[in-house]
Amino acid sequence: MSVSTIPRTPVTTRDGPSVLVPGTSAPLGEALVLCHDRTTGLSAAIAVDDTTLGPGLGGVRWMPYGSFGDAVEEACRLSRVMTLKNALADIPYGGAKSVIMRQGHEADEPARRKAQLLVFATSVSRLGGTYIPGVDMGTSVADLAVIATVAPWVSCNHEDPSPATALGVFHSIAAGVRHTLGRDLSGVRVTVQGAGHVGSSLARLLAERGAAIRVADVDSRRADEVARSVGGVVVSPDDAHARPCDVFAPCASARVLNARSIDELRCGLVVGAANDVLAERSGAELLAQRGIVYVPDFVSNAGGVLQIHAERDGWDTDRLDLALADVGRRTFDLLDEAAATRALPLHVAERWASGRLGRTVAIPD
Ligand code: NAD
Repeated sequence: MSVSTIPRTPVTTRDGPSVLVPGTSAPLGEALVLCHDRTTGLSAAIAVDDTTLGPGLGGVRWMPYGSFGDAVEEACRLSRVMTLKNALADIPYGGAKSVIMRQGHEADEPARRKAQLLVFATSVSRLGGTYIPGVDMGTSVADLAVIATVAPWVSCNHEDPSPATALGVFHSIAAGVRHTLGRDLSGVRVTVQGAGHVGSSLARLLAERGAAIRVADVDSRRADEVARSVGGVVVSPDDAHARPCDVFAPCASARVLNARSIDELRCGLVVGAANDVLAERSGAELLAQRGIVYVPDFVSNAGGVLQIHAERDGWDTDRLDLALADVGRRTFDLLDEAAATRALPLHVAERWASGRLGRTVAIPD
């Protein structure tokens, strides 16, 4: 196994000196560890963006990527988003994220999966607690339990935070709908993109409040199951974003909103669970120009990190429930301040998080 840290290459952005991963537009934070192991075939990247407020907390994503560079870029972008999320949620963690590159069927074969996880865990352990991994797309509580056998600084090795993430997103959508449309969720049409851990729970919570659910997943079996359980309808994953609805809730992969898909949206609000949903930062302005209210993902999807902190800090259920409801209050206050100051919600949220971090921090361009 080899482990290396890419040297920093200073560049200048509107916020002053900043650093990008060479050859990409991804921000380079405090550390970037690249892992490659010839025996197991592991290729992974661990990005620690910022530890001002505490150790970097962020999930382990296990997905196919076009190239290792793409995987590294995703880890770095997501680690920046985690810095903003954890700061805004007012919990004592910095931002980090890791990505394991899925290269074939190794992730489906238990012995090979475990072997890669154990090598990955060695790299996590070398960081000495600077990085606290958790679950993300493609990983589970069982995977985190394997990592914990080598690296003790792990979250989500006992409990899946996805239901808490979904409850936070639910509160955020309810607040967004109240602020923007002046109504409750009854009859509100929500398209949930991604019927996985978060999307399926979110669909159920929304349906219980009378929302009309459309659900899309590249795995049609999952979409069918969720639609059936909530009395909703399945829509094609190819154009789910373009179907008329009140709220588009991205709960799948990153960067789904680019100039083209934003132009095709037919909704009043975008509020969801997916991290790093804007392909370009300028997407926030495009959305506003189209009259679509965008609640930044790092505001709406903080339920999972709140649940992780609650478990580590020994909170009772009532305290966690209050913190999850606060995701809704924060959303409402954010939209209020954005409207009052004629600013984009994204810029207000970045300003709030930057205030806690003591320096200007923004999502990647
Ligand atoms: P998951 O892997 O359980 O579910 C994702 C689902 O999206 C899968 O069913 C997958 O088939 C589907 N999908 C992938 N690409 C799609 C596409 N183009 N169109 C439609 N469906 C597609 O993941 P999850 O844990 O539910 O997380 C979903 C998103 O929420 C991720 O971006 C994750 O980073 C973010 N998030 C999750 C948590 C959490 O607690 N799990 C917390 C914060 C943020």
